[in-house]
Amino acid sequence: MRAVVVAQYGTRLEVMERPIPRPGPGEVLIRVRASGLCSTDLHLLSGRMPLGELPRILGHETAGEVVERGAGVATPALGDRVTVAVDVVCGACRHCLSGQTQRCPAMRRIGFERDGGHAEYVAVPAANALPLPPALAYDAAAILPDAVACMYHSLRCQGKVGLGQTVLILGVGGLGIHGVQIARLAGAEVVATSRRPERLQLAERFGAIPVNTDTQPLAGVVREWTRGEGVDVVVDNIGTRASVREGLSLLRPGGKLLVVAYLDESFEVPSIPLFKAEREIIGCRGSSRQDLIEVVRLVGAGKLTPVVGAHYPLEQIGAAVERLERGDLVGRIVLTRE
Ligand SMILES: [Zn+2]
Ligand SMILES: [Zn+2]
Repeated sequence: MRAVVVAQYGTRLEVMERPIPRPGPGEVLIRVRASGLCSTDLHLLSGRMPLGELPRILGHETAGEVVERGAGVATPALGDRVTVAVDVVCGACRHCLSGQTQRCPAMRRIGFERDGGHAEYVAVPAANALPLPPALAYDAAAILPDAVACMYHSLRCQGKVGLGQTVLILGVGGLGIHGVQIARLAGAEVVATSRRPERLQLAERFGAIPVNTDTQPLAGVVREWTRGEGVDVVVDNIGTRASVREGLSLLRPGGKLLVVAYLDESFEVPSIPLFKAEREIIGCRGSSRQDLIEVVRLVGAGKLTPVVGAHYPLEQIGAAVERLERGDLVGRIVLTRE
C-alpha cells in the first residue's frame, strides 16, 4: 500500500510502498478514506519527538471503514464507518480508570509511536475506532480526533469554560476555528486573533469578535471588552514566548492560560503578576476517549462544524505540506484516497 512516512529525520515526508498491516487480537483493520494533516506531522519529521523505529507512517487524524477484524473483536462491525482516537492506552492506570486517558503514561499514539493513518490501511485497537453518524463525511470525520477534540478537551475539561465567561483565542488556525465554536456553544463570549482576514471572517461567522493583530491593538480591545478586568480564559494556539507572555498579561485575576501549542522550547513567566493575581497556566494535550465520543455526538447533532480548508490526494503530500507551511487557508488540510 501507499503511505506517507518519515524515512529519516530532518528530510521531507515521503510517499513509500509499505506492507498492508494485519490486525492483531483486539484490533481492526481500517481502509482509510481521509486523514488530516497537522503541523505536528512536521514537528515529528524534525526528530524533536522520537518516533521509534523508522520508517514510521504518520497521520493521527483518520477516518475510514472497518474491513477486517482481529480475534476477539465484538465492535465495531465490518463495514462500520469510524474515526480513530489517537491514544492507545493501558486502560488500567489511575488516569485511564478516571477517564483521563490523555494522561496514560503507557500510551502509544497512532501516527507517532505506532503507524498512523496517512496510508491506504491502518490497524488500530477496536476500542480506538469510534462509529460515525451516517451523515458525517469522511473528510470532516477525519479531523475530529485532534483539530476538534483537542479544543473541546482544552476548553471544557482544562479551562472549564461556561456561560457568560470571556475567552480569548490566540490563533484561529486548524484548531482555533473549532475552539471558537466550542467556546460559543458553552455560552462564552469570544475574541479570536489572526493576521489572516479570511480566518477572521470565518471566526466572526461562528460568533467571535475578530482581532487582526497586524492592524489592531489586542491589549486595547481586550481592556475595553472586559472593562479593564481581563479575560477569564486565554487559549494559546501559538505557543511562543511572546504569545504566552501576552496571554498571561490579558487574564483577569484568577484567570486561566491554556497552553495548547509548543513552538518554543521554553516559556518565561513574570513571577509577581502570576503570584499576585493567582493566575493559572494549564497544559492541554489531546483529548480523552470520552471527549472524542462527545465531539462525534455534537458534530452528528449539527452543533459543531468541522472546518476542512483544502483536500489533496495522499500522493501529493509535498504540495499539501507546502500549503500547510504557507498557511493561506482556513481550517484543516485533508489527504484524500481514491
Ligand atoms: Zn495534531
Ligand atoms: Zn493508562
